[in-house]
Amino acid sequence: MLIGPQNSPVERALAANLQAVRAQIAAAAAAAHSSAVSVTLVAVSKGHGAEMVRAAAACGVSDFGESYLQEALPKIQALRDLALTWHFIGRIQANKTRPIAEQFDWVHGVDRLRTAERLSAQRPHYAAPLQVCLQVNIGAESGKAGVEPALAAELAAAVRALPRLQLRGLMCILPAGQSEQDNRRAFCALRLLLLQINARGGTLDTLSMGMSADFRAAILEGATLVRVGTAIFGPRQPARGAQAG
Ligand SMILES: *Cc1c(COP(=O)(O)O)cnc(C)c1O
Repeated sequence: MLIGPQNSPVERALAANLQAVRAQIAAAAAAAHSSAVSVTLVAVSKGHGAEMVRAAAACGVSDFGESYLQEALPKIQALRDLALTWHFIGRIQANKTRPIAEQFDWVHGVDRLRTAERLSAQRPHYAAPLQVCLQVNIGAESGKAGVEPALAAELAAAVRALPRLQLRGLMCILPAGQSEQDNRRAFCALRLLLLQINARGGTLDTLSMGMSADFRAAILEGATLVRVGTAIFGPRQPARGAQAG
């Protein structure tokens, strides 16, 4: 959309934020001897209403990330008239896989076979295969989500065999507040893990890593998909019923 005085201040701020994020993606991609078109921007819209998603879509964003089903499902419904790609990036509860399998295009947080099997079984036959990234516990924080790096190849092989899923890559969420150096080391480790899996017959093409605070570092280490919320939409409301999924 053409951004001008006819737009609300919120829309103008959104357009300016998007322009800045895209410029930073392009600069980081250039520094990594890559191309900005090889980095998919997923705008993380959790905590913001459907009208903000609509405004971002009008600025050319096609991919949106959501973490909480309760919040995401009505939003997806309200925006059915737009051709958007929806990414589920939250924790996956075993008893909540069906709406994910039915309503989303991508799932980034798969970290156990049981979840993958349910998603595959529940993916509707009229839809394209569900695009999947395995979440890896690359920061090695005990208690955090994600498959252990040493077990990722085995999980990848099992997920690859499921008929209604297409395994696309690996995803990580780093602990907040780490040094840039620690972040880069972790992102690099995820990329090496992907290369290892591909060397053993995998065909992974997606490294889902980097959020508002660290997407430049992630792109320097080879991210092909970044999940950016705050830097685009500004601060969000604390998640209502965050634990309810
Ligand atoms: C919320 C969230 C993001 C976006 O975080 P920002 O810091 O707002 O950019 C990215 N990835 C995941 C998994 C998230 O939960």
